[in-house]
Amino acid sequence: ICWSVGGGWHRPRVQPYGPISLDPAAAVLHYGQEIFEGIKAYRHADGSIHTFRPDQNGRRLQRSARRLALPELPVSYFLQSIRELVAVDGAWVPNGDDQSLYLRPFMFAKEAFLGVRPAHKVAYYLIASPAGAYFKGGVQPVSIWLSEDYARAAKGGTGSAKTGGNYAASLLPQSEAYENECDQVVFLDPEGNVEELGGMNVVFVMKDGTLVTPQSESILEGITRDSILQLAVDRGHKVEGRAISLAQWREGVASGDIVEVFACGTAAVVTPIGVLKGKDFFDVQPSGPLALSLREELTDIQYGRREDRHGWLVRLDG
Ligand code: PMP
Repeated sequence: ICWSVGGGWHRPRVQPYGPISLDPAAAVLHYGQEIFEGIKAYRHADGSIHTFRPDQNGRRLQRSARRLALPELPVSYFLQSIRELVAVDGAWVPNGDDQSLYLRPFMFAKEAFLGVRPAHKVAYYLIASPAGAYFKGGVQPVSIWLSEDYARAAKGGTGSAKTGGNYAASLLPQSEAYENECDQVVFLDPEGNVEELGGMNVVFVMKDGTLVTPQSESILEGITRDSILQLAVDRGHKVEGRAISLAQWREGVASGDIVEVFACGTAAVVTPIGVLKGKDFFDVQPSGPLALSLREELTDIQYGRREDRHGWLVRLDG
């Protein structure tokens, strides 16, 4: 779908996958005015195709649009784009455990203009790709590298938006994580509070069963995290959103007050954190049963193996 000042949203269409042509002066190439989402479609045992809380992705895309001075796509258009793509590409939704069709909606400034201002011409696209299991051979705890030299987001910045610039800023620290034999990087805010990983939110399980997750204006509000926390509340756990510093994390693990640490996001669903490593420390993290049992409950709902009590699934075919 295209958008222009004065013209609104127009020209919705499904077209064969292929290159997009852009003017070399298109604003997105110079100023990064772009946002995106990540969502999956799942095939149930009866062959039907479902997606998970797409309204939440649609609303988050709108919040990202506001921050990046892009036009807000109505949520109904967002949902329609998913339906129409799955109507033609539904055969690509794979069968089987942990298999899905990954949907990538994105919007960018395509106006050719070298001045710095919000573009007057914008495009919204949706592409899809079959995705296999994130973990080959079962869920593995991930090792986390503490990024001490780089920040992902600043106060008042774009941290809570899903925009390419945040990911561009995380690439160098992510390479540092690999150089230090870690899978993922964790970012702190300027006060030393834990924010999130490059592409996942973090949750701590306390000794009394309370789940604590960082609350900050500069992190991406994950839909997986929100869902996992709701499932935990259903089981009688308390949930708290509050700042948690690196020192509180390390001391909590050392004293036994923190009994589990896990990360969550659409791609990996839920994964225990096995190790936290920094320039001068290496902390093994406690492992426990909660992360894996919440993961199982959530994936059972997504794949139609368990009742969808919250009405989270939206059927895409038929
Ligand atoms: N934080 C960041 C930076 C992410 O990229 C993602 C993945 N979208 C998440 C958290 C988790 O969000 P969600 O559960 O909606 O996938």
